[in-house]
Amino acid sequence: MEKITATRGTTLRCKGWRQEGILRMLENNLENAELPESLIVYGGTGKAARNWESYRAIVKTLKNLEDDQTMIIQSGKPVAVFQTWTTSPRVLMANSNLVPKWSNWEHFRKLESQGLIMYGQMTAGSWCYIGTQGIIQGTYETFSALAQKHFNSNLKGKIVLTGGLGGMGGAQPLAVTMAGGVCIAVECDEKRLDRRLNAGFCHKKTDDLETALSWAQKAQKKGEALSIGLLGNCATIFPQLLKQGFLPDVVTDQTSAHDELNGYIPAPYYGETIVDADNLREKDPENYKKESMNSMLEHCKAMVEFQKKGSIVFDYGNNLRGQAETAGYTEAFSYPGFVPAYVRPLLAVGRGPFRWLALTGNPEDIIKTDKLVLEMFPDDKILSNWIQLAEEHLPWEGLPARVCWLGYGERERLALAINNMVKEKIIGPVAITRDHLDTGSVASPYRETEGMKDGSDTVADWPLLNALLNTAAGADNVQIHNGGGVGIGLSTHAGMVVVCDGTQETDERIKRVFKTDPGMGVARHADAGYQEAIDVVAKTDLHIPMLD
Ligand code: NAD
Repeated sequence: MEKITATRGTTLRCKGWRQEGILRMLENNLENAELPESLIVYGGTGKAARNWESYRAIVKTLKNLEDDQTMIIQSGKPVAVFQTWTTSPRVLMANSNLVPKWSNWEHFRKLESQGLIMYGQMTAGSWCYIGTQGIIQGTYETFSALAQKHFNSNLKGKIVLTGGLGGMGGAQPLAVTMAGGVCIAVECDEKRLDRRLNAGFCHKKTDDLETALSWAQKAQKKGEALSIGLLGNCATIFPQLLKQGFLPDVVTDQTSAHDELNGYIPAPYYGETIVDADNLREKDPENYKKESMNSMLEHCKAMVEFQKKGSIVFDYGNNLRGQAETAGYTEAFSYPGFVPAYVRPLLAVGRGPFRWLALTGNPEDIIKTDKLVLEMFPDDKILSNWIQLAEEHLPWEGLPARVCWLGYGERERLALAINNMVKEKIIGPVAITRDHLDTGSVASPYRETEGMKDGSDTVADWPLLNALLNTAAGADNVQIHNGGGVGIGLSTHAGMVVVCDGTQETDERIKRVFKTDPGMGVARHADAGYQEAIDVVAKTDLHIPMLD
């Protein structure tokens, strides 16, 4: 299959930058994909298009799409084009959604094998993936919040044990070393491990546990930042470390535990024996699932034991706890998810991911916007540290991009300033988007909405309203997905994109979308009774009738 890369330069293939920007984002997803030949971008089987036939039809349709038409994508397949308005979205998508009673992997896979549906993860199916930077920043934000809460604001001299070096998980070693700590990341697939090593996200690798421990402890003593990729299986290594009496300061995990068949790899498989796991999956999927669930039980049990002995343990949004509980482990939920533990106070005030891509492919555009961010938000120390560290440590992956976390009001100001730079021809056109992990765009009871103050963890109206509202406000690409992060049936989430083409109309779009999008998050948290959110409402132009 042909290698897809994002088109660079200023020549339009579409009838406007809004369509061209969306097309380049789709191509960029595949340029950064973990398994591009299968259209799999990240997160187990998170895909950009249903199949190659659909991909080609999407590209063709985007090239011909008028400025007042909207293309409809149903689980990675373009199913219709409608006449709408110039101010309407150019693309609307729904990925992986099922009627609640049937919303589970079993039913999903049946439909998938019939070619009727696709798993879109979060930014895979919505074409908003920017390589590992997106998750590095989120991971950096989480580890910074953790360090602030437990360790005097940095991870110097602390060892973090984790698992999984895939599309998302690969960010962990870099985020830990950026915060000054030592990371041991257990990964069972050597190719994935090498990919992170080659990208400079992970310093060293070994398949020997003792070597990994001695490197980690030496670096810990010297207070040096170090990341170690340990080739092995978490379900074997975590219990082994426990048995040896090794106690990491922090323990988490980002193996693709949300999917027991096509994501998680059961013990004892790792390295060369991964092919045996592949064979088992193909020949006897039921047995594979059983082994996978048992391994997740052992993996999660070791994490709970680490917590009992004094490690700080948190779930990193992959549903390991849910799977272990299903496998019969009753203590699985003893440790918290990362959102209630560290991120909720940020989300409550409308703070969340804001990412932008230089659509012409010029890295200078990002350097100029980095400078803009530093000038506009000089008092935000986590933000300015992040921008400096990102410039220092992060390679460009696909179209040059940047991500940072901003709050309500800040996102609108920065988006307007970026569009102005496009207007003044200081930079080329830019697409602004975000992760689905955001303040008002997700219902995910094992992740973003775990332990909500009013018990509304499972209420999925909020992300649906977020998508409807962003459509009404005129975002360029709006999406609704099921199951990102944690697996089918366990979350509903929405995403959006605005393409900055430097026009006055885009200024108007920005003024609406960058209020509605984080504003829904503040409204959602105010409704749940979070005082931080209610305070934001009191200080801003947000109107919440029940608070009048
Ligand atoms: P991925 O499929 O690209 O990578 C998962 C990695 O885990 C693979 O490299 C695989 O070899 C490895 N692995 C699987 N089983 C293992 C085992 N037993 N021991 C050691 N390694 C093992 O997935 P990803 O994109 O990195 O996502 C990881 C998980 O995080 C997924 O469950 C995803 O849904 C979830 N996720 C979290 C967030 C977040 O913000 N926290 C966001 C999106 C996705």
